[in-house]
Amino acid sequence: MEDRIGRELRRHQLALRMIAHRARRHTICNFAGLTREKIKTLRREWHVKSEGRRRGPSPTLLSAFFRSARMRSEASVIALFCRIHGAVPAENIVEAARYYPNLDRGERLCDVYEAYRTYFPESEVNFELIVLLAIGLAEPNSLDLRRCSTCPGIVVIDLLSVKNRDCSQCARTEERRRKDSISGAKAALTGKKTHKPVVRDQQKRAAQGSTDHAPERKVRGTQKLEEQRGQETQKGDGGQEDLNDGQESDKEC
Ligand SMILES: [Zn+2]
Repeated sequence: MEDRIGRELRRHQLALRMIAHRARRHTICNFAGLTREKIKTLRREWHVKSEGRRRGPSPTLLSAFFRSARMRSEASVIALFCRIHGAVPAENIVEAARYYPNLDRGERLCDVYEAYRTYFPESEVNFELIVLLAIGLAEPNSLDLRRCSTCPGIVVIDLLSVKNRDCSQCARTEERRRKDSISGAKAALTGKKTHKPVVRDQQKRAAQGSTDHAPERKVRGTQKLEEQRGQETQKGDGGQEDLNDGQESDKEC
């Protein structure tokens, strides 16, 4: 008799906690084992305002936990809290969405949510997401808590995906390293383009016996020499002097 009364009291207490955490009505019904009408009556008796109450279906997409680095970090911490508070059983539950909810797990999830919000009051993770995460961890071949593939950190992973096996910190470091590598490769390519003509011109200058002047100067000097050659009649060493003169005069310009 006492057990029945005690259990009924726990159902009502759980319903009150979940209402305070703005859980949806069907979520409260599933965990507390109360009917929709009973929840409605309790809301009315406890003078719970309907403003801000979450309506509609609960979130079902596990991708919500991998949407951003922050969300992944928060999901990892919450998953750890679920393990610590015993909200997720050691054994997997087939069809966890149907068989996971019960009174005991509902109380443990409230403990997780309250502890998490105490540590991270600024978090925007709501109670329904914590329920989804716990069901995902309980379901076989869904979510799991594993060690980061790079560091000793613990991270929640999607067992059906090869992505997101690193913690957010390591993922950011890897992303920075990749960007640096790409920008380094681009810089190397750019440098190659600018140096290549210089090498060619150096070879040309070497073939023509001059190594000290920039390519355009040499070209302009050569043009001037040809003009002067048309005007003067002397050849041989004088021609070389004219070449030097042409370069010098071009340099002065
Ligand atoms: Zn890591």
